[in-house]
Amino acid sequence: MSDVKRPESVRIAGRVFRIHFVELPGGLSDKEGLVKYNEQEIFLDIQQNRVSITDTLLHECIHVIDHFWQLELVEKQVHLLANALMQVFLDNPDVRQYILDNCKQEAENGAKPVRTPKTR
Ligand SMILES: [Zn+2]
Repeated sequence: MSDVKRPESVRIAGRVFRIHFVELPGGLSDKEGLVKYNEQEIFLDIQQNRVSITDTLLHECIHVIDHFWQLELVEKQVHLLANALMQVFLDNPDVRQYILDNCKQEAENGAKPVRTPKTR
């Protein structure tokens, strides 16, 4: 992933989560990613391929969305949502670019405030 700029943080529900690209320790070897809600930190295991790390970032973002919007998703739903979104982005470069371009324009025009959920 050295040729792709890694994001330092992600803003979700008005909160900024720092993103750490690390080798997750052995005790967490069954996990590709981890989110700490109170510390507002996301950890991604760099011992994965590019697509898997990206999928894991989406996965952890969906966990954060689930947490703050109280969607009450189960792990399988988070897993499948991240996989499905990745597949949509991979299979549809025009749609992916359309989303990115519209988001970029929205940000340049000063993004409208998004309703922020209450903390659990
Ligand atoms: Zn998970």
